[in-house]
Amino acid sequence: MALNLSPERRAEVDRFMRGLIRRNPGEPEFHQAVREAAEYLIPFTHERPEYRHARILERLTEPDRAISFRVCWTDDAGNVRTNRGYRIQFNNAIGPYKGGLRFHKSVNASVLKFLGFEQILKNSLTTLPMGGGKGGANFNPKGKSDGEMMRFCQSFMTELHHYIGQTTDVPAGDIGVGTREIGYLYGQYMRLSGTFDGVLTGKGAAWGGSLVRTEATGYGLVYFMKEMLRTRGDGLRGKTCLVSGAGNVAQYTVEKLNGLGAKVVTLSDSSGFVYDKDGIDAEKLGWIMELKNERRGRIGEYAAKFGCEFHAGKRPWGVPADLAFPCATQNEIGRADAEALVANGVIGLAEGANMPTEPEAMDVLLKAKILYAPAKASNAGGVAVSGFERTQNSMFLSWPRAEVERRLQEVMKEIHRKCVRYGRQGDFVNYVRGANIAGFVKVADAMLALGVV
Ligand code: NDP
Repeated sequence: MALNLSPERRAEVDRFMRGLIRRNPGEPEFHQAVREAAEYLIPFTHERPEYRHARILERLTEPDRAISFRVCWTDDAGNVRTNRGYRIQFNNAIGPYKGGLRFHKSVNASVLKFLGFEQILKNSLTTLPMGGGKGGANFNPKGKSDGEMMRFCQSFMTELHHYIGQTTDVPAGDIGVGTREIGYLYGQYMRLSGTFDGVLTGKGAAWGGSLVRTEATGYGLVYFMKEMLRTRGDGLRGKTCLVSGAGNVAQYTVEKLNGLGAKVVTLSDSSGFVYDKDGIDAEKLGWIMELKNERRGRIGEYAAKFGCEFHAGKRPWGVPADLAFPCATQNEIGRADAEALVANGVIGLAEGANMPTEPEAMDVLLKAKILYAPAKASNAGGVAVSGFERTQNSMFLSWPRAEVERRLQEVMKEIHRKCVRYGRQGDFVNYVRGANIAGFVKVADAMLALGVV
């Protein structure tokens, strides 16, 4: 909850949330994401009454459209299977809808609406012209063969292609959707549309992708932490770090932290976490990448291979460290986890995953006044480079690696500057306030200019 909210403003937020919950019943993740933002945005709209008059927040929390569709496919045993696909086109006031596709068994309208709503503010923060959207399917990729993945992706795209386009909606990857899946999706899109227009981002470098896209979210996350530390005259060198997850974001977070002289001692997946006191160096990370990206194995195998601790069914937040980077999934840090982090002396936490911190845990981190970056600021590097990929596709050229990295660093610095501008409270920077308000202002001004539509 936002700190220092007056009783009057809290009542106003509660009233707003009651209406939202009534209109969107049974969608707890969506309610959580909106409440987090509303606690900062509603008080802010009292400084800018034109936003209140135009009902910007009410309009911003209602998706432009929410599409759901059947996805039928046949598994290797010949059984016909049915899943549900979605695309939430949330807001395109500042550019075409942009946001990832998630394939996970937990996907439903609530999860995608929370992600789509956050994506509006995140995309706005990047300074690029991108609206917010999100999509996916309640499909579990675990244990699926290559052929099954391809047939599922082709069936999914056969329906989705009606709704996307270079100037309308440009999806990307997310949990369960990496380069392999983007390839199958894009292949089917090209077959159906007869165009090579780069409508998906996260493509391989040989077929329209941008260099550094794969690394971008993790690298951007570390750049953001570096900026936060700089405000306290500190740096990454020698810091002990906790990272959760072992997928795309986690892997490149570890790579960049190693590159900048920090030591990462944990990684996790849905089966538990590993604690490697000696640090997960470049060689061990290479092994993890092969395990997760090629063999699609479980994190416990790392402990067996390198002789370190494996904690089945647990999260890494009780391990003593200086910095924490949750990079797995939503709500992976509860109140007790946050209390353990603070008690162990953590000085900074930057969210790689979307909404990994539960509201009560967020309170603990804000009260402790550690350097705490919400996802919409700190993991925006991925979508920023997706935006660069779209730009390169439109121009039919490819920027060199150094050019993309330079632009990524600039974007992360700019996001940090904006968060400080709107989040400074005395000698403390509330990055949650800063990110929500800075992201909101640009979209709200565009919505005012575009009239009541
Ligand atoms: P991946 O699919 O590559 O990896 C996800 C990782 O999180 C896996 O290690 C997975 O373990 C773990 N995980 C997933 N669900 C759970 C769970 N319920 N409990 C514990 N662990 C879990 O996804 P990404 O790395 O791409 O995404 C991670 C997070 O970052 C997500 O929140 C995503 O929205 C966010 N993000 C990603 C971006 C990107 O560019 N990829 C951009 C911005 C945000 P297991 O294999 O066991 O399921």
